[in-house]
Amino acid sequence: MRAIFFDLDGTLLDFEQEYADLLADAVEAVGAEATDDAIETYSEAFYDSFAACDPDPIRAGFAATDLDPDPGALADALLAREAEACRTPEEADAVLSRLTDEYALGVLTNGLREWQLEKLRASGIAEHFDAVVASYEAGAHKPDPEPFRLAEERLPADEYAMVGDSDADVAGARDAGWIARRYDGGGFDDLPGALDWQ
Ligand SMILES: [Mg+2]
Repeated sequence: MRAIFFDLDGTLLDFEQEYADLLADAVEAVGAEATDDAIETYSEAFYDSFAACDPDPIRAGFAATDLDPDPGALADALLAREAEACRTPEEADAVLSRLTDEYALGVLTNGLREWQLEKLRASGIAEHFDAVVASYEAGAHKPDPEPFRLAEERLPADEYAMVGDSDADVAGARDAGWIARRYDGGGFDDLPGALDWQ
């Protein structure tokens, strides 16, 4: 059996608006003012915390701002807005459904498990996947080897492929001994033919 793992953000799903606008909408949904300074401060603090795999990077991001609402309430609003704004490529559902006949399918995403699961559920394609692996569970993000090794443990297979939109997906997969297909935003119609299994 061969397994194909898909990246989540930017691959299986995207947001219907720019992320900074989505973030501003979430902040305003809890009655706060989404100033440029607040958005920038959040983003920097979030990325620092996320890169270090600190336990709660979203709350840490909001806690760094001078926004009044509780960081937990802001985080809840952000997740709700992200789930609402998720869009999948039009043919993703049909292509994934077809692939499940011949392949084991997984999601391998840089992120927090529950957060990423919520978006995957909201996108309506969760049923196609046999495994969902979030980098936080491995204690390291793609392109590091740990998430790829955890994915192999969760979904044992003879060979692995990764489909993703970033260098972290492609380089990380190849370093792990997987084949990789860079997703260019053009949909999944070329799968599985575009996967160069040896
Ligand atoms: Mg991505």
